[in-house]
Amino acid sequence: MAGRDYMGIPREEISWFPTIDTDLCINDSLCMDFCSNDVFAQGELSTVVANPYNCVVGCSACAKECPVDAISFPKKEELVKILNELRPKYAAARG
Ligand code: SF4
Repeated sequence: MAGRDYMGIPREEISWFPTIDTDLCINDSLCMDFCSNDVFAQGELSTVVANPYNCVVGCSACAKECPVDAISFPKKEELVKILNELRPKYAAARG
């Protein structure tokens, strides 16, 4: 899903995706089963975030599925700040 935009901003510029605490993860694959966007993949000792930019901007639903709270996201306020910084840049680029 690389090369997609979000509100005219290249998805790869927006640092919104899950992080897995590998010390907590019990590798039960619940997040992988829950998310249909291929964000997660099975690792040897823990599930891994294989395709971070497949994550839907602003979505953090998988975090609630994790029984050991191993999944975290940036704060929504940080996302708003990033979008507010990037939007004018890409609006100007589009003319
Ligand atoms: S749901 Fe939580 S514990 Fe299970 S694989 Fe995902 S991150 Fe690991």
